[in-house]
Amino acid sequence: MTQTPSGNEQDNLGEILELAGRQENGVPKGLARCPVCGDWIGRCLWPNPLKWHEGPTRISCRCEANLCSKCGEPVYEYRLGANVYTEAINKIQHIPIMLGWMHHCGKPRIELPVPIQPFWDEKYSPVLAGFPVQLVYIGVRPRNDETRKPIVMKARYSFEPGSFFENGSEKELRYVSKNPRDFHVDVGWEKGSKRWRTCKFEGSRPLSFAMGDDFETIMRQTLAIGLHSDEPAT
Ligand SMILES: [Zn+2]
Ligand SMILES: [Zn+2]
Repeated sequence: MTQTPSGNEQDNLGEILELAGRQENGVPKGLARCPVCGDWIGRCLWPNPLKWHEGPTRISCRCEANLCSKCGEPVYEYRLGANVYTEAINKIQHIPIMLGWMHHCGKPRIELPVPIQPFWDEKYSPVLAGFPVQLVYIGVRPRNDETRKPIVMKARYSFEPGSFFENGSEKELRYVSKNPRDFHVDVGWEKGSKRWRTCKFEGSRPLSFAMGDDFETIMRQTLAIGLHSDEPAT
C-alpha cells in the first residue's frame, strides 16, 4: 500500500523547499529586518535538516516583548517562549520563559561581561587577561514608530587594543562604542591594591565612576547606570 501525502503535508513540503538555504548575506531564507527595531523577523527553517519536518519556525523581534503589567517596561529583551535569530552567532535561540523572573521593576538591566581568558590569544590575552571582553549598557526607550511603546536598546563597547597602557602600578584599557559620538569607558587595574576602576565618559566629561576589588561587583556598578539620555543605541 502506498501513502500519498495529505494536502497539509504537501503545503508543508512546498514551504520547506522554498525556505531551505540561506540568503546571500548568510541569514536564513524567510527572514527580513523589522523596520522598527532592526532585528530579523519572519519564518525560517531550523539549521538542522532533521528538524525540517516540524515545519518553519516563527522568528520574533524585540517589538514583541511582553510588557510588565506593573511598570509597563519590557519584562525581557524578547518575548518569553519565542525563538529569535541572533546574527552575531548565526543561530536561532529559544527564549526560556523563566527569564521573566529576572525582571524586577525599576532595577537596572545588566549583562555581566565575560573576562578575557589568558589562553584565548597568544599575543593579547596574557596582558589583557581579566579585563572584560565587551561592555554592554542597556536601557528602555520608546520605539521608533507611532505606538512609541517601550523597547530594550543596547550600546556595546569593545576594547581598543591600541589604547592599552601599563606601568609598574597599573594597567588601563579604553572601551569605545561604534557610535558617532564620543562615549567611552576607561577600565583600570591597580596592581598594588588589586582594585578595578572604571569611568564612563562623554567626551572629557565623566558620567560615572566605580572602584573596588571584586570584578563582578564593579562591573555591575559600572553597567547599572544603563544608557545615558543622548547615548546612541540600537
Ligand atoms: Zn521589531
Ligand atoms: Zn516591571
